[in-house]
Amino acid sequence: MLNIPALEKLVHELSRLPGIGPKTAQRLAYFILKSGNDYSDRLGLALTQVQSEVHDCPRCFNYTDSDFCRYCMDPNRSDDSLCIVEEPSDIMRIESSGAFRGRYHVLHGVISPLEGIGPKNLKIRELLDRVDAGLEGTEPEIKEIILALDADLEGDTTILYLAKQLQGKRLKLSRIAHGVPIGSDIDFIDDRTMNRAMQNRVEL
Ligand SMILES: [Zn+2]
Repeated sequence: MLNIPALEKLVHELSRLPGIGPKTAQRLAYFILKSGNDYSDRLGLALTQVQSEVHDCPRCFNYTDSDFCRYCMDPNRSDDSLCIVEEPSDIMRIESSGAFRGRYHVLHGVISPLEGIGPKNLKIRELLDRVDAGLEGTEPEIKEIILALDADLEGDTTILYLAKQLQGKRLKLSRIAHGVPIGSDIDFIDDRTMNRAMQNRVEL
């Protein structure tokens, strides 16, 4: 205990950030305090600004400060394929690979019964509406959906749920492959990854 309520409050708020433990939170709080008013004002302004200016894109639920996000607005991207991701940060990862030139849809989480997160807490209804609008002709038709979710229990649960919901919707549905990372030695691959890599083998 620091016995200084204002400092304790800052440490408490910082320790709620992902990946920040109590020790790191304390170090950051001391750094902020030592940096003086100027830095605190700028940090405070940045926090207020990000909340007031950034919002969900109404079509794909990526973050944007405009009416629609850059990926929805880009006329050079294909409307035919839609990539489903868990969080907006996943889009950056896929974009930097340069492997996808379609549109996105952000779920803002995955189904996790343990954490009380069900389909209604995610942007799944909005995804199905998008697909239906394409089939009805009020929006561009989606011909392919690629599920780029994590290869864990929650990711698998979400993929199974979506596959069921999208059944019979006249589109190609796939999930990204999981397997042996490029440049790695197969001696060091764990059993589950090896199992998935065998299942996802490609014909030569
Ligand atoms: Zn968008």
